[in-house]
Amino acid sequence: MNQSVVGSFASRPLVRSRMIAIRALVTDWDETISKDTMHLVGQAAYSQDRPFPYPWSHFVDVYLQQYQNFMKHSTKPTSLEEEFQYEHQLRCVELSSLAEAVKLQLFKDVHKERLEEQAQHVETFPGSIEFLKKLTELKIPIYILSVNWSSLIMKRTLELNGIDPKNLHFITNEFEVLKDGRLSGRVISTRDIRTGSDKLQQFKLIKQDLLKQGIQDGVYYIGDSSSDFLTIINADCGVAFGDGSALRKLQQYGIPYDEGIEGTNRCKHVQSWNDLSSLLK
Ligand SMILES: [Mg+2]
Repeated sequence: MNQSVVGSFASRPLVRSRMIAIRALVTDWDETISKDTMHLVGQAAYSQDRPFPYPWSHFVDVYLQQYQNFMKHSTKPTSLEEEFQYEHQLRCVELSSLAEAVKLQLFKDVHKERLEEQAQHVETFPGSIEFLKKLTELKIPIYILSVNWSSLIMKRTLELNGIDPKNLHFITNEFEVLKDGRLSGRVISTRDIRTGSDKLQQFKLIKQDLLKQGIQDGVYYIGDSSSDFLTIINADCGVAFGDGSALRKLQQYGIPYDEGIEGTNRCKHVQSWNDLSSLLK
């Protein structure tokens, strides 16, 4: 696995054209399509009229403690190979707060509508919705690939903006929803996307899926954070969004990238979805 992760980037030739035609889009959600929505997922558990003894900050603290502990005992990666291992090892940290939420039954009996209602608070980034809308019109496949705990808020956000979520694929974690629309408090175990290494694995599965549809190239990946980095460097065209840790990782490893969507490098950096609009012309 590691060999294919690291080796594929080094061995692949640069694309010679100035812009790679987009044939499919795989995109992160939080801090890429919209401002972070994880706190909105958490708030949904408290929006229902039922007492719950632990505040949301308890689950954030569990995560931060695990993260600080991990940082104390781990060495910073200095190669792409180590980067993959590092991301993989972060899994226990990423799972910590969710495991606590399941154990304490934070979401048990919360109606899924409480989550969907949070969509009214989502702040999408300029141009993101218009870009997705245009891709759906052009029948270009879109995959949302996210480590978020649920796709419910994302789907309702798209609906509120005039995009039918059925036209997109959601590769995210999900809560178990019972027949009456309430959550059981557990998560669906077949969906387990927690880290950058998980995202890369899922991206490879998406590529296989696209290949069956006759799409061999032109698969874009866009994301903002270090958990997007491994996928960015393995996509046909990988885009680091904004000034997050994905961009810093590109710089740390000296990976060549273009500012804006044009240029000969397979990796790009954009500040806005509007920077991608020339792909649609
Ligand atoms: Mg993100």
